[in-house]
Amino acid sequence: MKKRVLSGIQPTGSVHIGNYLGALKNWVKIQYDYDSIYCIVDLHAITAFQNPGELRAKILELAGILLAIGIDPEHSALVVQSSVPEHAELAWMLTCVTPVGWLERMTQYKAKSEAQESVGDGLLQYPVLMAADILLYQAHVVPVGDDQTQHLELARDIAQRFNSLYGDTFTMPETRLPAVGARIMGLDDPEKKMSKSTAGSGHAIALLDPPDAIRKKLMRATTDSNPAVDFDTMGAGVRNLLTIYQGFTEASTEEVRAKFSGMRYGDLKKQVAEAVVAALEPVQQRYREITADQGYLADVLTQGAERVSIPAKDTVEKAKRAMGLFTRA
Ligand code: ATP
Ligand code: MG
Repeated sequence: MKKRVLSGIQPTGSVHIGNYLGALKNWVKIQYDYDSIYCIVDLHAITAFQNPGELRAKILELAGILLAIGIDPEHSALVVQSSVPEHAELAWMLTCVTPVGWLERMTQYKAKSEAQESVGDGLLQYPVLMAADILLYQAHVVPVGDDQTQHLELARDIAQRFNSLYGDTFTMPETRLPAVGARIMGLDDPEKKMSKSTAGSGHAIALLDPPDAIRKKLMRATTDSNPAVDFDTMGAGVRNLLTIYQGFTEASTEEVRAKFSGMRYGDLKKQVAEAVVAALEPVQQRYREITADQGYLADVLTQGAERVSIPAKDTVEKAKRAMGLFTRA
C-alpha cells in the first residue's frame, strides 16, 4: 500500500507565490508517489472572522486554483475540512491530551494574537486542529512551508503523548520542506514571511494576479543599497528575488549565480517578473477553464469528502476505543 501524504491550506485571502513555492508545488510533484489527501481548511480559516459569503466563494476559488496548478482529482482527494466532521471530533480528543503551555509557546500564535485586542480560543487551538487533520488520516508525510515546522513538531508531540497514554494509535508524521522556497519573504518587507493575511498591495504576488500587476509589484520590491547583485553582501530582499526565480524556473544554484552575478537590480527584477509571469499564465488559463463549470468543482469536493470518509471514521473509532469512549455496536 502507498504511504499517505496530507496537507492543507486556508481559504482566506489570495493564494500567493509563497504558498505555491513553499507547499503547493510539492503537493503536485509528489501526489502520485502517495495516497494523497489535500484539504481546504475552512475550520482553520474561522479562527479569524470571515465574511460568510466571501468564505464560501474563497473555498471554491481555492479548489479551482488547486486543480489549475495540477492537483489531479482522479488521484488525489481534494477535501473541504468542514465536510468531514471527524476533523473536529478528533481535535477535541487531542485537545484533552495537550498542555496549554505547549500551545502558548507557538510562534504563530504569539505573532497572530499580539495583533489582536481579544484573542479567540480558536487561535490557541489552531495547532491541535492541525494535528487532528494530519493524524486523522495516519499521514506519513506532510509537505508544508517552513513556517509550519513548529506546528508539525507539536503534532508529533501530541501523537506521542496520546500513544503513550492510550496505546499505539497514530502514525508519526514527517515534515517535508521544499529544497528551494520554504520561506518566501514579503516583497515590501523581506524580514517578514509573505502571508495571505498581511495587508498591502506590494506585499505578495497572488497566483491569479494579472501579468502587469506581477511586473509592477516585482519592480517595486524592496532590495538594498547595493546597485547590483553581489552574492557575498546581498540582503534578504535580493536573496528572496533570486529564490523566487529559482523556484519558478528550477534553475540550479550555479546557474542562478552565473546568470545574475553583477546584474543591476532593475534588470534582475525584470527577469524575475518574466519567469513568474511565464509560469503563472498557463495556471491562470486553466483556472478560467475549470471555474467556468462551478458544478464540476462542487462534484470534485463532494467526491473528495466521500473518498476520505472511511479512513477518517476508522481513526476516530480507533481513538475512541483507545480512550474508552462509547462506540456503537
Ligand atoms: P495566513 O496569513 O492566513 O496564515 P498563509 O499565507 O500563511 O496565510 P496558509 O494557508 O496558512 O497561508 O498556509 C498554506 C501553506 O503555505 C502552508 O504549508 C504554509 O507553510 C505555506 N506558506 C505560507 N506562507 C509561506 C511563505 N511565505 N513561504 C513558503 N511557504 C509558505
Ligand atoms: Mg499561515
